[in-house]
Amino acid sequence: MQMQHITHTTDILEKAYDPSDFRKVGHQLVDMIADHLENVQSKKNHPVLLYQDPEDELAYWQKDFASDSDILEVFRNILGHSISVHHPRYIGHQVAVPALVASLSGLVSDMLNNGTGVYEMGMAANAIEKIVTDLLAKKIGYTSEASGFLTSGGTLANLTALLAARKAKAPSAVWELGHQEKLAIMVSEEAHYCIDRAARILGFGSEGIIKVPVDDHFKINTGLLGERLDKANSEGFHVIALIGCSCSTATGSYDDLDVLADFADKHDLWFHVDGAHGGAVVFSEQHKHLVKGISRADSVVVDFHKMLMTPALNTGLVFKKAENAYKTFEQQAQYLWDAQHTREWFNSGKRTFECTKFMMAIKVYAILKTYGEEIFEQNVDKLYKLAMVFARKIEAHPNFELAIHPQSNIINFRYIHTEEKDLNTLNAEIRQALILSGKFYIVQTRIGGKLYLRTTIMNPLTQEADLLGLLDEIERIVDVLGL
Ligand SMILES: *Cc1c(COP(=O)(O)O)cnc(C)c1O
Repeated sequence: MQMQHITHTTDILEKAYDPSDFRKVGHQLVDMIADHLENVQSKKNHPVLLYQDPEDELAYWQKDFASDSDILEVFRNILGHSISVHHPRYIGHQVAVPALVASLSGLVSDMLNNGTGVYEMGMAANAIEKIVTDLLAKKIGYTSEASGFLTSGGTLANLTALLAARKAKAPSAVWELGHQEKLAIMVSEEAHYCIDRAARILGFGSEGIIKVPVDDHFKINTGLLGERLDKANSEGFHVIALIGCSCSTATGSYDDLDVLADFADKHDLWFHVDGAHGGAVVFSEQHKHLVKGISRADSVVVDFHKMLMTPALNTGLVFKKAENAYKTFEQQAQYLWDAQHTREWFNSGKRTFECTKFMMAIKVYAILKTYGEEIFEQNVDKLYKLAMVFARKIEAHPNFELAIHPQSNIINFRYIHTEEKDLNTLNAEIRQALILSGKFYIVQTRIGGKLYLRTTIMNPLTQEADLLGLLDEIERIVDVLGL
Protein backbone atom coordinates (compact mmCIF):
# COMPACT_ATOMS: atom_id res chain seq x y z
CA MET A 1 0.00 0.00 0.00
CA GLN A 2 1.55 3.24 -1.12
CA MET A 3 -0.52 5.66 0.90
CA GLN A 4 0.58 4.43 4.30
CA HIS A 5 3.40 5.81 6.43
CA ILE A 6 3.64 8.98 4.47
CA THR A 7 6.53 10.94 5.88
CA HIS A 8 5.90 14.60 6.37
CA THR A 9 8.16 15.85 3.69
CA THR A 10 7.27 18.49 1.17
CA ASP A 11 5.98 15.88 -1.26
CA ILE A 12 2.90 14.96 0.77
CA LEU A 13 0.90 17.57 -1.11
CA GLU A 14 1.85 15.96 -4.39
CA LYS A 15 1.10 12.53 -2.95
CA ALA A 16 -2.41 13.64 -2.01
CA TYR A 17 -3.18 14.24 -5.69
CA ASP A 18 -1.34 11.31 -7.23
CA PRO A 19 -3.71 9.54 -9.65
CA SER A 20 -1.70 6.33 -9.60
CA ASP A 21 -2.17 5.89 -5.85
CA PHE A 22 -5.83 6.70 -6.31
CA ARG A 23 -6.15 4.07 -9.00
CA LYS A 24 -4.47 1.38 -6.92
CA VAL A 25 -6.31 2.03 -3.66
CA GLY A 26 -9.54 2.71 -5.51
CA HIS A 27 -9.56 -0.68 -7.21
CA GLN A 28 -8.90 -2.42 -3.92
CA LEU A 29 -11.56 -0.39 -2.18
CA VAL A 30 -14.20 -1.21 -4.78
CA ASP A 31 -13.35 -4.91 -4.40
CA MET A 32 -13.58 -4.61 -0.63
CA ILE A 33 -16.97 -2.89 -0.78
CA ALA A 34 -18.30 -5.44 -3.27
CA ASP A 35 -17.16 -8.29 -0.97
CA HIS A 36 -18.79 -6.56 1.96
CA LEU A 37 -22.05 -6.20 0.05
CA GLU A 38 -22.00 -9.86 -0.97
CA ASN A 39 -21.64 -10.87 2.66
CA VAL A 40 -24.21 -8.45 3.97
CA GLN A 41 -26.81 -9.14 1.32
CA SER A 42 -26.62 -12.89 1.14
CA LYS A 43 -25.26 -14.33 4.37
CA LYS A 44 -28.04 -14.32 6.87
CA ASN A 45 -25.58 -14.82 9.72
CA HIS A 46 -23.70 -11.68 8.90
CA PRO A 47 -24.63 -9.11 11.55
CA VAL A 48 -26.65 -6.04 10.57
CA LEU A 49 -24.81 -4.13 13.26
CA LEU A 50 -22.09 -5.13 15.69
CA TYR A 51 -23.21 -2.93 18.51
CA GLN A 52 -20.62 -1.36 20.81
CA ASP A 53 -21.18 1.14 23.59
CA PRO A 54 -20.21 4.70 22.63
CA GLU A 55 -17.22 4.83 24.99
CA ASP A 56 -15.86 1.53 23.66
CA GLU A 57 -16.31 2.73 20.10
CA LEU A 58 -14.49 5.96 20.87
CA ALA A 59 -11.64 4.07 22.56
CA TYR A 60 -11.38 1.83 19.50
CA TRP A 61 -10.93 4.75 17.16
CA GLN A 62 -8.60 6.61 19.51
CA LYS A 63 -6.39 3.56 19.44
CA ASP A 64 -6.69 3.34 15.67
CA PHE A 65 -5.81 7.01 15.29
CA ALA A 66 -2.58 6.49 17.20
CA SER A 67 -1.72 3.32 15.27
CA ASP A 68 -0.10 2.94 11.86
CA SER A 69 -3.04 1.13 10.25
CA ASP A 70 -3.17 1.86 6.52
CA ILE A 71 -6.09 3.50 4.80
CA LEU A 72 -7.56 0.29 3.37
CA GLU A 73 -7.55 -1.22 6.83
CA VAL A 74 -9.29 1.90 8.07
CA PHE A 75 -11.96 1.58 5.40
CA ARG A 76 -12.43 -2.09 6.26
CA ASN A 77 -12.86 -1.23 9.92
CA ILE A 78 -15.32 1.55 9.12
CA LEU A 79 -17.40 -1.00 7.21
CA GLY A 80 -17.24 -3.40 10.13
CA HIS A 81 -18.14 -0.76 12.70
CA SER A 82 -21.11 0.67 10.81
CA ILE A 83 -24.69 -0.43 10.43
CA SER A 84 -25.35 -2.11 7.05
CA VAL A 85 -28.50 -0.75 5.47
CA HIS A 86 -28.07 -3.21 2.60
CA HIS A 87 -28.67 -6.12 4.99
CA PRO A 88 -32.13 -7.62 4.33
CA ARG A 89 -32.72 -7.59 8.08
CA TYR A 90 -32.12 -3.87 8.34
CA ILE A 91 -35.70 -2.78 8.99
CA GLY A 92 -35.03 0.35 11.03
CA HIS A 93 -35.00 4.03 10.20
CA GLN A 94 -36.34 5.59 7.01
CA VAL A 95 -32.98 5.66 5.25
CA ALA A 96 -32.57 4.65 1.62
CA VAL A 97 -30.75 1.50 0.74
CA PRO A 98 -28.70 3.12 -2.02
CA ALA A 99 -28.71 1.67 -5.50
CA LEU A 100 -25.03 0.98 -6.07
CA VAL A 101 -24.77 3.04 -9.23
CA ALA A 102 -25.81 6.05 -7.12
CA SER A 103 -22.96 5.33 -4.73
CA LEU A 104 -20.56 5.32 -7.68
CA SER A 105 -21.94 8.70 -8.71
CA GLY A 106 -21.04 9.89 -5.22
CA LEU A 107 -17.43 9.12 -6.00
CA VAL A 108 -17.62 11.19 -9.16
CA SER A 109 -19.25 14.05 -7.25
CA ASP A 110 -16.69 13.93 -4.45
CA MET A 111 -13.83 14.01 -6.89
CA LEU A 112 -15.17 16.82 -9.09
CA ASN A 113 -16.40 18.78 -6.07
CA ASN A 114 -18.38 21.18 -8.22
CA GLY A 115 -20.09 23.75 -6.04
CA THR A 116 -23.16 23.84 -8.33
CA GLY A 117 -24.58 27.07 -6.84
CA VAL A 118 -23.45 28.98 -9.89
CA TYR A 119 -23.66 27.60 -13.40
CA GLU A 120 -19.96 27.48 -14.22
CA MET A 121 -19.33 25.57 -11.00
CA GLY A 122 -21.55 22.74 -12.10
CA MET A 123 -22.70 22.84 -15.69
CA ALA A 124 -23.64 19.17 -15.84
CA ALA A 125 -25.02 19.11 -12.30
CA ASN A 126 -27.29 22.11 -12.89
CA ALA A 127 -28.63 20.84 -16.19
CA ILE A 128 -29.19 17.35 -14.79
CA GLU A 129 -30.86 18.82 -11.71
CA LYS A 130 -33.43 20.46 -13.98
CA ILE A 131 -34.13 17.14 -15.72
CA VAL A 132 -34.54 15.29 -12.42
CA THR A 133 -36.74 17.88 -10.75
CA ASP A 134 -38.83 18.38 -13.91
CA LEU A 135 -39.51 14.65 -13.84
CA LEU A 136 -40.56 14.87 -10.19
CA ALA A 137 -42.82 17.83 -11.02
CA LYS A 138 -44.44 15.82 -13.83
CA LYS A 139 -45.01 12.86 -11.52
CA ILE A 140 -46.64 15.16 -8.96
CA GLY A 141 -48.98 16.21 -11.73
CA TYR A 142 -47.78 19.79 -12.07
CA THR A 143 -47.87 21.66 -15.38
CA SER A 144 -44.89 23.20 -17.15
CA GLU A 145 -45.35 26.25 -14.92
CA ALA A 146 -43.72 24.25 -12.11
CA SER A 147 -40.09 24.26 -11.20
CA GLY A 148 -37.92 22.81 -8.49
CA PHE A 149 -34.44 22.10 -7.23
CA LEU A 150 -32.56 19.70 -5.01
CA THR A 151 -31.51 20.61 -1.53
CA SER A 152 -29.83 19.06 1.50
CA GLY A 153 -32.60 17.12 3.18
CA GLY A 154 -36.29 17.27 3.92
CA THR A 155 -35.69 19.44 6.97
CA LEU A 156 -34.07 22.19 4.93
CA ALA A 157 -36.55 21.72 2.08
CA ASN A 158 -39.54 22.18 4.40
CA LEU A 159 -37.96 25.30 5.88
CA THR A 160 -37.33 26.65 2.38
CA ALA A 161 -40.92 25.95 1.33
CA LEU A 162 -42.24 27.78 4.40
CA LEU A 163 -39.97 30.73 3.62
CA ALA A 164 -41.61 30.85 0.20
CA ALA A 165 -45.03 30.60 1.85
CA ARG A 166 -44.20 33.56 4.10
CA LYS A 167 -42.99 35.56 1.11
CA ALA A 168 -46.22 34.86 -0.73
CA LYS A 169 -48.78 35.15 2.07
CA ALA A 170 -47.51 37.39 4.89
CA PRO A 171 -49.18 40.82 4.73
CA SER A 172 -45.86 42.65 5.20
CA ALA A 173 -42.51 42.11 3.53
CA VAL A 174 -40.88 40.12 6.33
CA TRP A 175 -37.72 39.52 4.31
CA GLU A 176 -37.04 43.28 4.23
CA LEU A 177 -38.80 44.63 7.32
CA GLY A 178 -38.75 41.78 9.79
CA HIS A 179 -41.95 40.60 11.43
CA GLN A 180 -44.75 43.14 11.50
CA GLU A 181 -47.59 40.83 12.46
CA LYS A 182 -48.09 37.52 14.25
CA LEU A 183 -47.81 34.72 11.69
CA ALA A 184 -48.81 31.08 12.00
CA ILE A 185 -48.99 27.76 10.17
CA MET A 186 -51.41 24.86 10.57
CA VAL A 187 -50.25 21.27 10.56
CA SER A 188 -51.15 17.88 11.99
CA GLU A 189 -49.87 17.10 15.47
CA GLU A 190 -48.28 14.03 13.90
CA ALA A 191 -46.07 16.06 11.55
CA HIS A 192 -42.32 15.51 11.50
CA TYR A 193 -40.60 17.64 14.14
CA CYS A 194 -38.75 19.63 11.48
CA ILE A 195 -41.97 21.52 10.66
CA ASP A 196 -42.17 22.72 14.24
CA ARG A 197 -38.52 23.64 14.12
CA ALA A 198 -38.91 25.50 10.81
CA ALA A 199 -41.77 27.57 12.19
CA ARG A 200 -39.67 28.50 15.22
CA ILE A 201 -36.72 29.42 13.02
CA LEU A 202 -39.12 31.62 11.05
CA GLY A 203 -39.90 33.38 14.33
CA PHE A 204 -43.51 32.20 14.67
CA GLY A 205 -43.00 30.92 18.23
CA SER A 206 -44.91 28.10 19.93
CA GLU A 207 -48.23 29.84 19.43
CA GLY A 208 -47.59 30.25 15.73
CA ILE A 209 -47.61 26.49 15.20
CA ILE A 210 -51.21 25.40 15.24
CA LYS A 211 -51.11 21.65 15.78
CA VAL A 212 -54.34 20.13 14.60
CA PRO A 213 -55.29 16.84 16.32
CA VAL A 214 -55.49 13.63 14.30
CA ASP A 215 -58.31 11.15 13.85
CA ASP A 216 -58.30 7.44 14.73
CA HIS A 217 -56.14 6.73 11.67
CA PHE A 218 -53.57 9.35 12.71
CA LYS A 219 -54.54 11.64 9.82
CA ILE A 220 -55.14 15.33 10.39
CA ASN A 221 -58.71 15.77 11.60
CA THR A 222 -60.00 17.97 8.81
CA GLY A 223 -63.23 18.58 10.69
CA LEU A 224 -61.28 20.75 13.14
CA LEU A 225 -59.57 23.01 10.61
CA GLY A 226 -62.28 25.69 10.54
CA GLU A 227 -62.50 26.19 14.28
CA ARG A 228 -58.70 26.19 14.70
CA LEU A 229 -58.35 28.84 12.01
CA ASP A 230 -61.11 30.98 13.54
CA LYS A 231 -59.48 30.73 16.94
CA ALA A 232 -56.09 31.78 15.54
CA ASN A 233 -57.64 34.71 13.69
CA SER A 234 -59.48 35.87 16.79
CA GLU A 235 -56.18 35.82 18.69
CA GLY A 236 -54.65 38.13 16.09
CA PHE A 237 -52.68 35.55 14.11
CA HIS A 238 -52.34 35.69 10.38
CA VAL A 239 -52.24 32.06 9.24
CA ILE A 240 -50.08 31.79 6.12
CA ALA A 241 -49.88 28.08 5.41
CA LEU A 242 -51.49 24.68 5.79
CA ILE A 243 -49.26 21.63 5.64
CA GLY A 244 -50.24 18.11 4.65
CA CYS A 245 -48.28 15.04 5.74
CA SER A 246 -47.65 12.42 3.06
CA CYS A 247 -47.09 10.49 5.19
CA SER A 248 -46.71 11.17 8.91
CA THR A 249 -43.51 9.99 10.54
CA ALA A 250 -44.59 7.84 13.47
CA THR A 251 -47.37 5.83 11.86
CA GLY A 252 -46.95 6.51 8.14
CA SER A 253 -50.48 7.89 7.75
CA TYR A 254 -51.43 9.94 4.69
CA ASP A 255 -53.45 13.12 5.23
CA ASP A 256 -56.41 13.73 2.92
CA LEU A 257 -54.78 16.23 0.56
CA ASP A 258 -57.88 17.06 -1.47
CA VAL A 259 -59.74 18.20 1.63
CA LEU A 260 -56.72 20.22 2.76
CA ALA A 261 -56.40 21.79 -0.70
CA ASP A 262 -60.07 22.84 -0.61
CA PHE A 263 -59.57 24.45 2.78
CA ALA A 264 -56.37 26.21 1.72
CA ASP A 265 -58.07 27.53 -1.43
CA LYS A 266 -61.03 28.83 0.49
CA HIS A 267 -58.92 30.69 3.04
CA ASP A 268 -56.09 31.81 0.77
CA LEU A 269 -53.46 29.74 2.57
CA TRP A 270 -50.26 28.41 1.07
CA PHE A 271 -50.68 24.66 0.76
CA HIS A 272 -47.50 22.70 1.35
CA VAL A 273 -47.09 18.92 1.28
CA ASP A 274 -44.36 17.28 3.31
CA GLY A 275 -43.87 14.14 1.24
CA ALA A 276 -40.32 13.60 2.45
CA HIS A 277 -40.97 9.93 3.05
CA GLY A 278 -44.23 8.95 1.38
CA GLY A 279 -44.26 11.41 -1.53
CA ALA A 280 -42.32 8.76 -3.43
CA VAL A 281 -45.66 7.09 -4.25
CA VAL A 282 -46.08 9.62 -7.07
CA PHE A 283 -43.94 7.15 -9.05
CA SER A 284 -46.37 4.28 -8.43
CA GLU A 285 -49.58 3.72 -10.40
CA GLN A 286 -50.78 1.41 -7.66
CA HIS A 287 -50.14 3.75 -4.72
CA LYS A 288 -50.36 7.30 -6.02
CA HIS A 289 -54.00 7.47 -4.90
CA LEU A 290 -52.58 7.97 -1.39
CA VAL A 291 -51.50 11.48 -2.42
CA LYS A 292 -54.57 12.36 -4.45
CA GLY A 293 -54.72 16.14 -4.62
CA ILE A 294 -50.96 16.62 -4.34
CA SER A 295 -50.88 18.54 -7.64
CA ARG A 296 -52.98 21.24 -5.95
CA ALA A 297 -50.18 21.99 -3.46
CA ASP A 298 -48.13 25.17 -3.87
CA SER A 299 -45.01 23.26 -2.88
CA VAL A 300 -44.03 19.64 -2.34
CA VAL A 301 -41.02 18.03 -0.67
CA VAL A 302 -39.86 14.51 -1.61
CA ASP A 303 -36.68 12.94 -0.25
CA PHE A 304 -34.82 10.96 -2.88
CA HIS A 305 -32.81 9.57 0.03
CA LYS A 306 -35.75 7.75 1.57
CA MET A 307 -37.78 5.51 -0.73
CA LEU A 308 -36.03 6.53 -3.93
CA MET A 309 -32.82 4.56 -3.46
CA THR A 310 -30.45 7.53 -3.39
CA PRO A 311 -27.75 8.19 -0.78
CA ALA A 312 -28.42 11.08 1.60
CA LEU A 313 -28.80 13.97 1.48
CA ASN A 314 -30.92 14.36 -1.64
CA THR A 315 -34.26 16.14 -1.53
CA GLY A 316 -36.51 17.54 -4.24
CA LEU A 317 -38.47 20.71 -3.49
CA VAL A 318 -40.91 21.53 -6.26
CA PHE A 319 -43.14 24.59 -6.61
CA LYS A 320 -46.36 24.65 -8.59
CA LYS A 321 -45.41 28.10 -9.86
CA ALA A 322 -41.74 28.59 -10.63
CA GLU A 323 -41.80 32.28 -9.72
CA ASN A 324 -42.29 31.44 -6.04
CA ALA A 325 -39.05 29.51 -5.98
CA TYR A 326 -37.17 32.49 -7.35
CA LYS A 327 -38.69 35.05 -5.01
CA THR A 328 -37.81 33.25 -1.77
CA PHE A 329 -34.23 34.40 -1.37
CA GLU A 330 -34.22 37.62 -3.36
CA GLN A 331 -31.05 39.42 -2.39
CA GLN A 332 -27.89 40.75 -3.95
CA ALA A 333 -24.79 38.64 -4.23
CA GLN A 334 -22.98 40.54 -6.94
CA TYR A 335 -19.96 38.31 -7.03
CA LEU A 336 -22.14 35.29 -7.79
CA TRP A 337 -24.87 36.59 -10.06
CA ASP A 338 -25.24 39.86 -11.95
CA ALA A 339 -28.99 39.97 -11.83
CA GLN A 340 -30.99 38.52 -8.96
CA HIS A 341 -34.32 39.19 -10.57
CA THR A 342 -33.95 37.05 -13.63
CA ARG A 343 -35.12 33.46 -13.50
CA GLU A 344 -32.07 31.42 -14.23
CA TRP A 345 -32.67 27.75 -13.51
CA PHE A 346 -29.00 27.09 -14.19
CA ASN A 347 -27.76 29.15 -11.21
CA SER A 348 -29.32 26.90 -8.60
CA GLY A 349 -27.92 28.84 -5.64
CA LYS A 350 -30.42 31.61 -6.31
CA ARG A 351 -33.17 29.36 -5.08
CA THR A 352 -31.45 27.20 -2.47
CA PHE A 353 -30.55 27.87 1.11
CA GLU A 354 -27.13 26.37 0.51
CA CYS A 355 -24.36 28.28 -1.18
CA THR A 356 -22.02 25.41 -2.02
CA LYS A 357 -24.00 22.28 -2.77
CA PHE A 358 -22.74 18.88 -3.83
CA MET A 359 -23.78 17.30 -7.11
CA MET A 360 -26.92 15.61 -5.82
CA ALA A 361 -28.66 15.38 -9.16
CA ILE A 362 -26.13 13.04 -10.74
CA LYS A 363 -26.96 10.30 -8.22
CA VAL A 364 -30.66 10.29 -9.07
CA TYR A 365 -29.83 10.64 -12.76
CA ALA A 366 -27.51 7.62 -12.64
CA ILE A 367 -30.33 5.48 -11.27
CA LEU A 368 -32.79 6.77 -13.86
CA LYS A 369 -30.40 6.32 -16.76
CA THR A 370 -29.42 2.80 -15.71
CA TYR A 371 -32.82 1.38 -14.79
CA GLY A 372 -35.48 3.80 -16.00
CA GLU A 373 -38.02 5.53 -13.80
CA GLU A 374 -39.93 2.27 -13.30
CA ILE A 375 -37.32 1.23 -10.76
CA PHE A 376 -38.79 3.78 -8.34
CA GLU A 377 -42.26 2.38 -8.94
CA GLN A 378 -41.05 -1.16 -8.38
CA ASN A 379 -39.26 -0.19 -5.19
CA VAL A 380 -42.27 1.58 -3.69
CA ASP A 381 -44.61 -1.25 -4.69
CA LYS A 382 -42.30 -3.89 -3.26
CA LEU A 383 -41.81 -2.10 0.06
CA TYR A 384 -45.54 -1.38 0.48
CA LYS A 385 -46.50 -4.93 -0.42
CA LEU A 386 -44.04 -6.40 2.07
CA ALA A 387 -45.45 -4.08 4.72
CA MET A 388 -49.00 -5.28 4.08
CA VAL A 389 -47.88 -8.92 4.24
CA PHE A 390 -46.03 -8.27 7.50
CA ALA A 391 -48.99 -6.41 9.00
CA ARG A 392 -51.30 -9.34 8.22
CA LYS A 393 -48.90 -11.82 9.82
CA ILE A 394 -48.77 -9.69 12.97
CA GLU A 395 -52.54 -9.34 13.07
CA ALA A 396 -52.97 -13.06 12.76
CA HIS A 397 -50.42 -13.83 15.49
CA PRO A 398 -51.82 -14.20 19.00
CA ASN A 399 -48.66 -12.91 20.71
CA PHE A 400 -48.39 -9.63 18.80
CA GLU A 401 -50.51 -6.58 18.12
CA LEU A 402 -50.35 -3.81 15.55
CA ALA A 403 -50.53 -0.15 16.61
CA ILE A 404 -52.47 0.70 13.47
CA HIS A 405 -52.99 -1.02 10.16
CA PRO A 406 -50.25 0.52 7.96
CA GLN A 407 -50.87 2.68 4.90
CA SER A 408 -47.19 2.72 4.03
CA ASN A 409 -44.03 0.73 4.76
CA ILE A 410 -43.92 1.87 8.41
CA ILE A 411 -45.22 -0.81 10.77
CA ASN A 412 -45.51 -0.38 14.53
CA PHE A 413 -46.29 -3.43 16.63
CA ARG A 414 -45.57 -4.97 19.99
CA TYR A 415 -45.30 -8.24 21.80
CA ILE A 416 -48.24 -8.74 24.17
CA HIS A 417 -48.01 -12.28 25.49
CA THR A 418 -47.32 -11.69 29.17
CA GLU A 419 -49.27 -11.65 32.35
CA GLU A 420 -46.77 -10.16 34.74
CA LYS A 421 -44.75 -7.63 32.90
CA ASP A 422 -45.41 -4.02 31.90
CA LEU A 423 -45.65 -4.09 28.11
CA ASN A 424 -43.60 -0.96 27.61
CA THR A 425 -40.71 -2.36 29.64
CA LEU A 426 -40.98 -5.74 27.97
CA ASN A 427 -40.88 -4.36 24.44
CA ALA A 428 -37.99 -2.02 25.24
CA GLU A 429 -36.06 -5.02 26.59
CA ILE A 430 -36.90 -7.01 23.48
CA ARG A 431 -35.54 -4.30 21.25
CA GLN A 432 -32.40 -3.97 23.31
CA ALA A 433 -31.76 -7.71 23.06
CA LEU A 434 -32.43 -7.67 19.31
CA ILE A 435 -29.91 -4.90 18.71
CA LEU A 436 -27.27 -6.64 20.79
CA SER A 437 -27.85 -9.89 18.87
CA GLY A 438 -26.95 -8.15 15.61
CA LYS A 439 -29.55 -10.27 13.85
CA PHE A 440 -32.04 -7.51 13.07
CA TYR A 441 -32.13 -3.76 13.25
CA ILE A 442 -35.43 -2.20 14.22
CA VAL A 443 -36.28 0.88 16.28
CA GLN A 444 -38.93 1.82 18.82
CA THR A 445 -41.41 4.63 19.25
CA ARG A 446 -44.17 5.76 21.58
CA ILE A 447 -47.69 6.16 20.28
CA GLY A 448 -50.28 7.37 22.75
CA GLY A 449 -47.97 6.56 25.66
CA LYS A 450 -47.43 2.98 24.50
CA LEU A 451 -44.03 1.76 23.43
CA TYR A 452 -44.04 -0.01 20.07
CA LEU A 453 -41.41 -1.79 18.06
CA ARG A 454 -41.04 0.22 14.89
CA THR A 455 -40.02 -1.19 11.55
CA THR A 456 -39.75 0.57 8.23
CA ILE A 457 -39.18 -1.77 5.34
CA MET A 458 -36.65 0.09 3.22
CA ASN A 459 -34.73 -2.73 1.62
CA PRO A 460 -36.34 -4.37 -1.43
CA LEU A 461 -34.10 -7.38 -0.76
CA THR A 462 -35.94 -8.02 2.49
CA GLN A 463 -38.15 -11.08 2.12
CA GLU A 464 -41.24 -12.34 3.82
CA ALA A 465 -39.07 -14.96 5.51
CA ASP A 466 -36.98 -12.20 7.10
CA LEU A 467 -40.10 -10.62 8.56
CA LEU A 468 -41.37 -13.93 9.90
CA GLY A 469 -37.86 -14.51 11.20
CA LEU A 470 -38.14 -11.28 13.17
CA LEU A 471 -41.30 -12.45 14.93
CA ASP A 472 -39.68 -15.82 15.66
CA GLU A 473 -36.56 -14.15 17.00
CA ILE A 474 -38.64 -11.95 19.31
CA GLU A 475 -40.41 -15.01 20.71
CA ARG A 476 -37.08 -16.75 21.14
CA ILE A 477 -35.65 -13.74 23.00
CA VAL A 478 -38.61 -13.66 25.37
CA ASP A 479 -38.18 -17.36 25.94
CA VAL A 480 -34.43 -17.51 26.37
CA LEU A 481 -34.05 -14.36 28.42
CA GLY A 482 -37.07 -15.22 30.48
CA LEU A 483 -38.52 -11.75 29.84
C1 LIG B 1 -37.56 12.20 7.11
C2 LIG B 1 -38.63 13.20 7.14
C3 LIG B 1 -38.34 14.58 7.27
C4 LIG B 1 -36.94 15.07 7.48
O1 LIG B 1 -36.18 14.91 6.33
P1 LIG B 1 -34.59 14.81 6.37
O2 LIG B 1 -34.29 14.52 4.96
O3 LIG B 1 -34.23 13.72 7.32
O4 LIG B 1 -34.07 16.14 6.81
C5 LIG B 1 -39.38 15.47 7.22
N1 LIG B 1 -40.64 15.05 7.09
C6 LIG B 1 -40.97 13.75 6.98
C7 LIG B 1 -42.41 13.37 6.82
C8 LIG B 1 -39.97 12.78 7.00
O5 LIG B 1 -40.29 11.48 6.87
